[in-house]
Amino acid sequence: MSTTTAFPLAFDTTPSSARRAEAEREAILADPGFGKHFTDHMVTIPWSAQQGWHDAVVKPYGPLQLDPAASVLHYAQEIFEGLKAYRWADGSVWAFRPEANAERLQRSARRLSLPELPEADFLSAIEHLVKIDQEWVPTAPETSLYLRPFMIASEAFLGVRPAQGVDFHVIASPAGAYFPGGIEPVSIWLSEDWSRAGRGGMGAAKTGGNYAASLLPQAEAYEQGCQQVLFLDSEERTWVEELGGMNVFFVYRDGRIVTPALGTILEGITRSSVIRLAEQRGHGVEERRFSIAEWREGVESGEIVEAFACGTAAVITPIGRLKARDFEIGAPDAEPGALTMSLRDELTGIQYGRVEDHHGWMRRL
Ligand code: PMP
Repeated sequence: MSTTTAFPLAFDTTPSSARRAEAEREAILADPGFGKHFTDHMVTIPWSAQQGWHDAVVKPYGPLQLDPAASVLHYAQEIFEGLKAYRWADGSVWAFRPEANAERLQRSARRLSLPELPEADFLSAIEHLVKIDQEWVPTAPETSLYLRPFMIASEAFLGVRPAQGVDFHVIASPAGAYFPGGIEPVSIWLSEDWSRAGRGGMGAAKTGGNYAASLLPQAEAYEQGCQQVLFLDSEERTWVEELGGMNVFFVYRDGRIVTPALGTILEGITRSSVIRLAEQRGHGVEERRFSIAEWREGVESGEIVEAFACGTAAVITPIGRLKARDFEIGAPDAEPGALTMSLRDELTGIQYGRVEDHHGWMRRL
């Protein structure tokens, strides 16, 4: 779908007259949790088939006005992104590979027949929001300001076709440390009845429907005493795909690393960063089909020595055990693997400015 913007958009700012007082903000930042509190402002950029992207604004955070016939509410024409702004020791604020999120949003837009937002406007939206709400970027170790860009079909029309009226928004939410008490291996339930994505489906797009589909299997995981759910391919129920919100990696004793190939999974920005860091250390990284049997046998024979999951929220998380209907892999109290932890240190080091960024991944906001 075409975008008509020929130059970066100018943003019009209306500061909030109801900014939270410093004491209230500091109380929230002392224990932000995740996704519960939102900053004082948001960004909105409307799009129409006639005008393209136009009238970009920074405005007070608040409810959207949406016609009950807005097609997002009926047909789920929606996409989103997730990335973080990190506070460095010198007080500066940085985003990790936001260009990659801009590109992924464009890929998701193509799949969902939504308009592509130019990368420059995506970056500008984030910069404007973080600048006006910079006091909301927490300072404690491993905390961040989570940024949630999203795009919805807002046209009031009940016919099933791509909306001619769309809105892009960015909101921001302070996030606490994912592991306040130290890194804990995650336990995983193997979903054998439900799939997340199929060939030709929407698995590679970051769209709300994929997450709605994951709620039932995720509830099953909780019932089984596990924290996350692992999905297999939908045709053969053989090949490992990903978790509800994270990609997975397997480390072999000889240093090889395997991760499921792209296709029906979300291409995680953490995933692609881990591949680069591992290759730089001399590990051979194989992106290929990887079966659940290969995982079982590899662990039993001692060939597979580590397994980890990765994503923006938890960065890199060791997988402690996998529970399935008829078998289990790993031990509940498994120690985090050495490579898992050292990749985690390197990546979080880059994000928080402790380790030099040789890749040009960090962007100052
Ligand atoms: N897979 C899924 C289904 C996800 O929702 C996420 C989180 N965005 C990931 C993988 C990891 O992606 P990223 O590293 O970009 O956060």
